[in-house]
Amino acid sequence: MDPRRRMLAEATRGFMPADEGLALYEAALAAPEGPFLEVGSYCGRSALFIGAAAAERGCVLFAVDHHRGSEENQPGWEWHEPDLVDPRSGLIDTLPHFRRSVFEAGLEEHVVAVVGDSPRLAALWGTPLAFLLIDGGHGAAPAHADYEGWIPHLVPGGILAIHDVFPDPADGGRPPYEIYLRALEGGLFNETGSIGSLKVLRRSA
Ligand code: SAH
Ligand code: MG
Repeated sequence: MDPRRRMLAEATRGFMPADEGLALYEAALAAPEGPFLEVGSYCGRSALFIGAAAAERGCVLFAVDHHRGSEENQPGWEWHEPDLVDPRSGLIDTLPHFRRSVFEAGLEEHVVAVVGDSPRLAALWGTPLAFLLIDGGHGAAPAHADYEGWIPHLVPGGILAIHDVFPDPADGGRPPYEIYLRALEGGLFNETGSIGSLKVLRRSA
């Protein structure tokens, strides 16, 4: 990965460990022809890793997020960062941070923010995807809605990455692990890589 982009990605706020970010970059480079999409962008950390691959491939990463934070980012929850609250609305707003990250990495041509509710967008989406990262809401309803909404848009041979997959309940919540199991069930996907809580799979048909 381009050293300047890598440095900026690692300095961006967010929840993607650097080694898992690099694995996303490699996985996106190995995807078939076509655009990439991530669900859950926050301040742009994963988008900088995947966006670097999009730039090298000459394609686009659609970065889907309503930028209002997940349940676990809200005040009183474990992953709340108070300075991300917009004083005018009183709501979390990570979009300015995301935008700055993408600009500084020189990726505005290759990373397109799609601001809105993920299942709502998935229902209206029409473009086949070569690479998909699911890292949005981690509750049962949001995680399963993301799986059901976006998987139909992934082309055969396309890459699916799922973040925060914890086989041991002591390590974290169940829903990302449940959708990972769904992907493997019935042979729709084969696992091609695993690092930390990141799982990388390839769609077989
Ligand atoms: N990939 C990021 C972390 C994402 S955190 C990183 O590398 O740091 C999860 C994100 O999912 C939050 O920014 C939250 O706003 C977003 N999110 C949660 N539910 C969503 C929904 N229904 N639609 C769109 N975005 C959602
Ligand atoms: Mg995550």
